[in-house]
Amino acid sequence: MAKTINCPFCSGTKKDPFDLLSPISHCLVCNGTGRVVMEEPMKKCAFCSGTGRNPLGARVPCIVCGGKGNNHFEGNTKCLQCKGTGKSSDGLPCTRCKGKGFS
Ligand SMILES: [Zn+2]
Ligand SMILES: [Zn+2]
Ligand SMILES: [Zn+2]
Repeated sequence: MAKTINCPFCSGTKKDPFDLLSPISHCLVCNGTGRVVMEEPMKKCAFCSGTGRNPLGARVPCIVCGGKGNNHFEGNTKCLQCKGTGKSSDGLPCTRCKGKGFS
């Protein structure tokens, strides 16, 4: 089942959230549509807490969910290695669940 949600990276504004002064900079996650299509079932991305933004500080979409803020997910078990945070001790995505927080 596909589901259309508001693009979390630009909050549906369709613009690149980090380059508001340029009218031609479309959000690269939703391609300037303000919406992204997710495959259900899905869960909020643990690595970026659903913001779609890379928590490592770079002005780029989350490397785990690609900026969509959610990941397609069948399983429902919290990752034992990161305890559902999606992060390793070094701040990079958990190697076991790849940053999704569930397995
Ligand atoms: Zn967007
Ligand atoms: Zn994410
Ligand atoms: Zn994990």
